[in-house]
Amino acid sequence: MSDYDDKPWLARYPEGQPAEITPEFTDALALFRASAERSPGNDAIRYFDGRITYAELDALTDAFAAGLLDTGFERGDRVALYLQNVPQFLIGLIGTWKAGGIAVSVNPMNRERELELLLNDSGARVLVCLQSLYRDVASKVLAGTGVRTVLTTSELEYQTRDDPRAFAGSERIELPDTTDLAGMLARFAGRTPPPVSYTADDVAFLTYTSGTTGPPKGAMNTHGNVAFNSQTCREWFGLGPQDAVLGVAPLFHITGLIGHIGLSLLLGAPLVLFHRFEPSLAIDVIREQRPTFTVGSITVFIALMNAPNAEREALESLTKIWSGGAPIPPSTVKAFSAAFGRYIHNIYGLTETTSPSHGVPYQADAPVDDASGALSVGVPVFNTMVRIVGEDGSELPPGEIGEIVTTGPQVVAGYWNKPEETAKAIPGGALHTGDVGYMDEAGWFYIVDRKKDQINAGGYKVWPREVEDVLYEHEAVREAAVVGVPDVYRGETVKAFVSLRPGKTATAEELIAFCKDRMAAYKYPRQVEFLDEIPKTATGKLLRRELRAREQA
Ligand code: AMP
Repeated sequence: MSDYDDKPWLARYPEGQPAEITPEFTDALALFRASAERSPGNDAIRYFDGRITYAELDALTDAFAAGLLDTGFERGDRVALYLQNVPQFLIGLIGTWKAGGIAVSVNPMNRERELELLLNDSGARVLVCLQSLYRDVASKVLAGTGVRTVLTTSELEYQTRDDPRAFAGSERIELPDTTDLAGMLARFAGRTPPPVSYTADDVAFLTYTSGTTGPPKGAMNTHGNVAFNSQTCREWFGLGPQDAVLGVAPLFHITGLIGHIGLSLLLGAPLVLFHRFEPSLAIDVIREQRPTFTVGSITVFIALMNAPNAEREALESLTKIWSGGAPIPPSTVKAFSAAFGRYIHNIYGLTETTSPSHGVPYQADAPVDDASGALSVGVPVFNTMVRIVGEDGSELPPGEIGEIVTTGPQVVAGYWNKPEETAKAIPGGALHTGDVGYMDEAGWFYIVDRKKDQINAGGYKVWPREVEDVLYEHEAVREAAVVGVPDVYRGETVKAFVSLRPGKTATAEELIAFCKDRMAAYKYPRQVEFLDEIPKTATGKLLRRELRAREQA
């Protein structure tokens, strides 16, 4: 009997789809190389009216790697990509792999303290950075990090159209202390770096996440993880080289890294990019470039519905749409379908599962759970074993609620330099997701709750401790507890409960502004409530659950 014989979810697989596949590639660079060889003239990236073919991307990434190696860059060195959704992200990523390095993706919304932490934790040697982010943020923290080479670039670089709407506020800036990326690529054009190869276990990139247990950690997504889940997406979404992928998710997040970059490179298809998600711009781009597939989070789909140019036929080309990163209620799927005649499929995974571990197959409609009203997240993807586990660690039968524990070829090797955190979250390679759910008799999975303290603001994750730590820096704050509260647009948003020091005063607005200055825009509290005492256990542990329950009552 194989491991799969008693798995009811297999009944939900499309006719003929096997439970296990043999990965076509075990190395993320190889999947790009195969496409560049097979279809060098295909567009790899479309960025407004700019186009980069696979052959051009191959040449640009050779130049990037040659330029890096010229600085003394060595195998395994880290390159931080602090960029929005611009073509240079792919140049930096593939170029880093060609130079034998590991890419570190950094949220472009990160502020000084967040960036500094990531650069130091990852030990990044090189930073590829938008000019404006260098001027406003990175230049202030680099002295306290190990970064030795800074390559700067502009979001205007790969487009030629003078589009004031798309690029409002962008400008080219002279930055004397950095290396201009375009200049480096021109200097090293035509140079070929020495060949490099990877095993499935080599780390391809570090993706920072608060995970289930605390402050940001670099999840080690291996080449095997990336190659496997890019292939999973291709089969699960039913895609081929005729498709075009629309990049609405941020490229630094695992959804963008796999569901946009890995997937399009594997397909040899174009990735349609625009630097910053703005809904009416997105609709214009869809009309012009006619992408066929996208994956994003619920906030993207709500924003598209509310865009002023959201005519019914606006998404005509976009026939395959998946939502992940956050819950999507059936009412949003229905409203979207009424607005555009397009069905949104659900997909579920974590940074630690290199994007999907579950998804609704493209041929299926997902059921809704009667009791919780939750839309099913689908069934486990190929080669993936999922258990629902009770408090005592025992496996629970269908219908019973417990923690989702996932094992498979997409589960990360662990957290960068954090063996204890790895052992806690991924003992024996089984990822304890911190998500609470169940499987029904027919094999569909549902997520109904969370064990972890993480707040999910429409796909952007906030770790309460990070916000509390900033609040504690305010001289008037005695105690702070941060929780997620319901929000119409994001599903959840950030609320802080604060008690003040005797004799000190502060207003909610003041504390909100204090936090806003010091963290990425999705993290700062939208609401502050003052309490005389923050509820705690006898041992002094914050009772976040109690505070959350008050908000939901
Ligand atoms: P991240 O590491 O940022 O990808 O966040 C992963 C977390 O997002 C999961 O642990 C879930 O809590 C949540 N999540 C992802 N996809 C879904 C989904 N389809 N439905 C509900 N929650 C989701």
